[in-house]
Amino acid sequence: MSNHYDYIILGGGLAGLSLAYHLIHSPLADRSILIVEPDDKDRNDRTFCYWSDRPTSFDALVHRSWDQIRIIDEHEQRSIDLGAYRYQMIRSLDFYRHVREALAAHPTVTWLKGAADHVEETAEGASVSVEGQSYFGRWVFDSRFKVAAFKTDPANEGALYQHFTGWFIETPDDAFDPTAATMFDFRTPQCGPHGGPQRSELRFC
Ligand SMILES: Cc1cc2nc3c(=O)[nH]c(=O)nc-3n(C[C@H](O)[C@H](O)[C@H](O)COP(=O)(O)OP(=O)(O)OC[C@H]3O[C@@H](n4cnc5c(N)ncnc54)[C@H](O)[C@@H]3O)c2cc1C
Repeated sequence: MSNHYDYIILGGGLAGLSLAYHLIHSPLADRSILIVEPDDKDRNDRTFCYWSDRPTSFDALVHRSWDQIRIIDEHEQRSIDLGAYRYQMIRSLDFYRHVREALAAHPTVTWLKGAADHVEETAEGASVSVEGQSYFGRWVFDSRFKVAAFKTDPANEGALYQHFTGWFIETPDDAFDPTAATMFDFRTPQCGPHGGPQRSELRFC
């Protein structure tokens, strides 16, 4: 395996896979691409919800789609019509599988299972070290998110670090209406004891 590539993509999550998918469907489809990802990505580890008023490349993967959203507080429930928009949900596992199948069928894409370490600029692009091996790319795209670096970088002072957590909850009787997107439910506490911000809870369907 050559260790020189036109493009090296660090991270095969949403951003990395989207970039690779669009590259192989673009006039750059003949360029060599290396994707470095340590995880098997074989679990539905998140859901991607987004707004759209037009067709997208991934419409066939849409698991749920809503033309109304519901907002609730302690006084009322309101359903809001989204007009030209729809609120759509794609399960991450469907997305990973679909994109990986498309990339596997493309001869210029190489997968490397491993964790990227250092990235260093060179005269011709950048070099990446992955578990002791070096790889060179004319362009390197880094989608790894480093929480500690984000928090300590002064440029991010005041920025909101948004963290999602999801639970699967089983109830003895049906309690969930998949036809309604609840966004948001403000019946949960919104302020700390002195009016300051506390943990806010956003409930996604
Ligand atoms: C439960 C849940 C629900 C969410 N719901 C939404 C939603 O509704 N809408 C929305 O927009 N966003 C949602 N998110 C946020 C979602 O995570 C991001 O939108 C999206 O995944 C960001 O894409 P990304 O490519 O930047 O990061 P990721 O998808 O996290 O991809 C980063 C990749 O980098 C890989 N990686 C890590 N370290 C290394 C390394 N050293 N070398 C190489 N690769 C590495 C990781 O394994 C990962 O695959 C949700 C997240 C969770 C957990």
